[in-house]
Order: sequence, then structure tokens, then C-alpha cells
Amino acid sequence: MRDLNNWAPCMLDRHASPDTPRLLIVEDEANIRDLVCLHLESEGYRCLGTANGREALDLLRSQPFDVVVLDVMLPGLNGLELCRNVRAGQANRDVLILMLTARSDESDKLAGFDSGADDYLTKPFSMLELSARVGALTRRHRTALPKPMEQTTVIEEHGLRLDPAKRSLRLHGREVPVTPHEFRLFYQLVAHRGVVFSRERLLAEVWHGEVFVTGRSVDTLVHRLRCKIERDPAQPTLILTVWGEGYKFAED
Ligand code: CA
Repeated sequence: MRDLNNWAPCMLDRHASPDTPRLLIVEDEANIRDLVCLHLESEGYRCLGTANGREALDLLRSQPFDVVVLDVMLPGLNGLELCRNVRAGQANRDVLILMLTARSDESDKLAGFDSGADDYLTKPFSMLELSARVGALTRRHRTALPKPMEQTTVIEEHGLRLDPAKRSLRLHGREVPVTPHEFRLFYQLVAHRGVVFSRERLLAEVWHGEVFVTGRSVDTLVHRLRCKIERDPAQPTLILTVWGEGYKFAED
């Protein structure tokens, strides 16, 4: 039986690139778990299998995953409880969860979605259908907004140099004085250039839920940054406005 003590690293470190989606397969029926792991690995995913809900929760608290294929009936902690725990925790709280159940009962399905599952598959299912669902989920994950990024890496871009450790912004070698909020906002945009950030998202990233700020505060901050770094702040070429959506840093 493939369990935590005997989980198959399979393609885990030998062939997979860091971009290969990481899947956690939580299923106590060994034959189903093995079949699912083998099939999804043959499709290029990295899979880790476990039979126990508690072990799955420990794994989800200790390493990143893109998708969890989660059986509802499990020893230790059932799939619904596991799902609720992951959503309420810190690590992997946004992981995509595909729930498996033996019943096609509508109330089971609702309980699954209620507990935070993203999709649902009724046993017995075909490997083809499973692949299609997992594929749809991973595509969704990849197009979702990036997770808040730890601001630790020095970024050099368009004559700019952002050093988060020193909270320092240089433009063509010249130090540009910025406030901590200006730095955080600018770093977020530059680190994800081309990605459009809504005002709400920037509020969350920059102010971490402080209550006395609004979307207007974001506009003010962007205006101040443009005055500091753009050649012509009225015709910005670095921090671009995406009408009706938010802001992004120029892609090239
Ligand atoms: Ca089961």
C-alpha cells in the first residue's frame, strides 16, 4: 500500500520542473490511490499519495500543493473536515480541491462545496474524466492572481533597482526617496509586471487590512510614485492605468 511511509516520489525530483503542478492524492483505497497517482503522473503532474486525513493535513501545512484530490470517507479526518481545516488555516488555504465521493447525492455535493471544495467527482469515475477535471483546475490556478509575494528579492527593471531589505528605490543609479507604502505598492507591481492589480488587491497587499484607507488611497500613492519615477507623470510609461480594472507595471 502506498502511504506516507511509502509514497512514491515518482517523477517528483528527477524529471519535473519547478512549474510542474504538485498534486496531493488523499484516498484510503490503495488501488484507487495508486491508479490515480500513476495516471496523473503519466500526464506530467507530480503526485504525492496518502491514505489518512490527518497525514494529509500535516502535508498541506508543510509544503505547497496546487491541487488536492480528496476522498470524502477517510480515516483520521474525513474529507469535509480536512477541507474546512485547510480553508481556515494559513498554508495552502487557496489550494484547489477536487472532492471524490461514492455517492451522487445532491446533499453530499452541497456539503462538499460548503466545506470549500472547488469541484466534485462521483465514484466510480473514469481516469479520462479525472484528468479533465484536474486539468481544468490547474489551468484555473495558473491564471489566478499571484499569491502575495515575500518582498525579499532585489529587482532590476527599466533602469530601476528595488532593494526590499534596504527599502531602497534607485532610478538610473539615483536614490529616489519613497515611503514604506509607496515602496510596497511599487514592488508589488514591478515584481508581477504585466499583471493587472485591482485597487482592492493593492489595498490588501500594501495596507494589510488597515481600515482607514480606500481605493482613493491607491490612486494617490500611484500619482505620487509617477511624479517620482515617470519622465512625464501625465503620460506614464511605467505604471499603467487599466481602465475599470486597476494598475499594472509595463510589460516591456
Ligand atoms: Ca474512502
